[in-house]
Amino acid sequence: MKIAVVGSGYVGLVTGACFAESGVTVVCVDNDAKKIQHLKAGSVPIYEPGLETMIQRNMDKNRLFFTTELKEGIIGSEVIFIAVGTPPGEDGSADLKHVLGVAKEIGEIINEYIVVVTKSTVPVGTSGKIRKAISNELDNRKVNIEFDVASNPEFLKEGAAVDDFLKPERIVIGVENERTSDIMKRLYQPFMLNNHPILFMDIASAEITKYAANAMLATRISFINEIANLCDILGADINHVRKGIGSDSRIGSKFIYPGVGYGGSCFPKDVKALIKTARDNGYELNVINAVEKANDYQKNIIFSKMSKFFNNKLRNKVIGIWGLSFKPKTDDIRESSSIILIERLLKEGAMIKAYDPAAMTETKKLLGTTIGYAADPYEALSGADAMVLMTEWSEFHLPDFLKMAEVMNGKVIFDGRNIFDPAEIRRNGFEYFGIGRR
Ligand code: NAD
Repeated sequence: MKIAVVGSGYVGLVTGACFAESGVTVVCVDNDAKKIQHLKAGSVPIYEPGLETMIQRNMDKNRLFFTTELKEGIIGSEVIFIAVGTPPGEDGSADLKHVLGVAKEIGEIINEYIVVVTKSTVPVGTSGKIRKAISNELDNRKVNIEFDVASNPEFLKEGAAVDDFLKPERIVIGVENERTSDIMKRLYQPFMLNNHPILFMDIASAEITKYAANAMLATRISFINEIANLCDILGADINHVRKGIGSDSRIGSKFIYPGVGYGGSCFPKDVKALIKTARDNGYELNVINAVEKANDYQKNIIFSKMSKFFNNKLRNKVIGIWGLSFKPKTDDIRESSSIILIERLLKEGAMIKAYDPAAMTETKKLLGTTIGYAADPYEALSGADAMVLMTEWSEFHLPDFLKMAEVMNGKVIFDGRNIFDPAEIRRNGFEYFGIGRR
């Protein structure tokens, strides 16, 4: 079986590599010539555990190919996945120009039956638009070629993407007929061997399932952040409260860790897009609106705590920051709370020294020389008036507090992810500020 995957980003690369791993011949297509050149040379442009080895292995076995030419991907393929970006437009809606651009190109090229599957996160109705864009091109060519559309939203988590793809908790596929579901079942069969369910449904339901999943997770985060902020005010400890509610099986313990607000390439834009879809259809999503508002507040929570601590005098303060990516095990800094904090501190005249195990290159592209980059966590704290933990990389969990005390100028720690033990920190002579902890 041969398939094509268009878009070689976080989702496209993982999708392509994992299908190749199951024995399928995969052609990954991207219009970024530089990216394809690097991939062909065996260099993977993103940090994702396990991905580089898998890509290399499948390239060596002649099952995984990279190209900028969509035609090379399409010819002889039974399925083509669209996995290009759907960034937020100015009004919050998902910008479909990349997705529909690819659809148009598909219509220009296909000469035999193919299933066109949307993996990008797209609003309800997009598959219909894809069908129309392809049909228009076939009409222009005056040819009658059969094709089907399907929606197969992706639920992988950056940082654990390969594992999530190989052992998915569920596979959601929206289809219009049995022919499509049979092809998709065959393709996904190797990933269902451990009883992972494949859920077939209509296309609109599949499209909305992805947004509903992300909105639900974002809701849990904003909910626990609000309760943590209340704990701060009332002198309670969110860790006790979190365990107290998480042991209720109806609630569960996952995704109720307070922090500095959700970021990344998905939750913020998907929450916005869902609100916009509902609004366009005359319906106001009151809960989701509040989730977004609470998250905007939370992204500034550390800045507020720091301002208060330094009596609004942040000018020339040296701040050492651990963590730049929006979460551990990724180099993705899109909508990262750390970057938002840094930009705010720079505006106030503070000086930043930062360290991240994987995201420094991406941050340099965005912030350039406006901040300092340290070679290790302790170098980031040298002469610092305050230390801020923004991303909970595992290497940050048990730092050498004595060494920190030696190199730092001030003795205060802001723990945006509640990973440190406040008592231990205080024993080492620091003041401690977490999120909702006594
Ligand atoms: P990305 O920005 O990392 O990658 C997108 C790629 O598409 C880029 O390499 C870009 O060059 C390429 N591209 C754009 N237009 C193209 C075209 N016309 N032809 C060929 N290539 C083109 O994006 P991503 O993070 O992989 O996300 C892709 C989609 O998957 C988005 O809709 C996103 O919401 C969704 N998604 C992302 C994640 C995630 O964790 N990143 C998880 C689930 C779903």
